[in-house]
Amino acid sequence: MSPAAELRAAARTLRALAADATRGPWSTLPGAANVWHFLSSDSDAGGDAAPVLVVPGVGVRLGNAAWIARIHPGLAEPLADWLEAEAKKVEAGTYTDLGGPFHAACHGRFDEDCSCFDEVLAVARVINGTEEETSA
Ligand SMILES: [Zn+2]
Repeated sequence: MSPAAELRAAARTLRALAADATRGPWSTLPGAANVWHFLSSDSDAGGDAAPVLVVPGVGVRLGNAAWIARIHPGLAEPLADWLEAEAKKVEAGTYTDLGGPFHAACHGRFDEDCSCFDEVLAVARVINGTEEETSA
């Protein structure tokens, strides 16, 4: 899969996951009997009326609950937009020569010398659940 395709796949995954989730922002509230309630403050999602997720709290670390709440579905669209914008940059700055894609800005092969998109590709690969994979 090309770098641009990896970035676009991650953007699609984020949008698909967010479409099936309750909109954010989310917050956490430890409830009775060791139960964590994840709440959405989005009025269309019912506000605080109904939790979007209820997790038994025994063994749940506060840090994990805070992390889940902060990385709510509201992050999907701006993150997907960024991934797609970076995909356009990859394509706009790419030329092919001698059997491989090269990045014009650094004159490096994407799979060997170019590190211009390492950070955004690392994000995409976490979302895609893939290992490092860049080829033509
Ligand atoms: Zn480069």
